[in-house]
Amino acid sequence: MDESLPSQPNPSRRGQGRDNDILVPRTEIEVGSEDEGNPPRAAGSGLGSGPAPLTALFTPPVSALGPLFRHRFKRIYECRIDFDLDINNRATMRVLGGYYKSRRLIRIYARDREQGLRPVEELFDTFLHEMAHHLEYTEPFSFSARSCGRVPGRMHSRLFWKILGELKYRWARLQRQQRGQIPSPEGGGL
Ligand SMILES: [Zn+2]
Repeated sequence: MDESLPSQPNPSRRGQGRDNDILVPRTEIEVGSEDEGNPPRAAGSGLGSGPAPLTALFTPPVSALGPLFRHRFKRIYECRIDFDLDINNRATMRVLGGYYKSRRLIRIYARDREQGLRPVEELFDTFLHEMAHHLEYTEPFSFSARSCGRVPGRMHSRLFWKILGELKYRWARLQRQQRGQIPSPEGGGL
């Protein structure tokens, strides 16, 4: 029950988003987009702004996204248990990605059926989301899981949000360091 491969275009009768493959049928998309009428995570929503200004930036080919995301992630967290990453070219309407627990597989859908290639930073945002699932399952105690367990019937546990928050914080901090806005921890412990 934990895996139903999204093998054909889905008639999107149910709320969809990430994780159509894990644990429970999807009804929930993402905290913060609870309005029924909203599309789940419009492009660029991860950045808190519209998608427009980023389009001028360099866009790597889809084949480079997997290595790029892995490289980025290594700089913010060292996974104890490896994972597979599939940047999938199939165009989807609403599904952004999923985590396949039993295979430790992260799948990211790179293309929107109408808009084409999704912005890289949005894809990375989805990647971080799925990575939080991976860590939630493979090393829950890395994030002090006290009373953060799954609640039956809920897609995202408190532990999940805690992990995702930590990952996003680290990524944002790293970017500020790279821009020179805050000092890098040179010779620091981490
Ligand atoms: Zn999720």
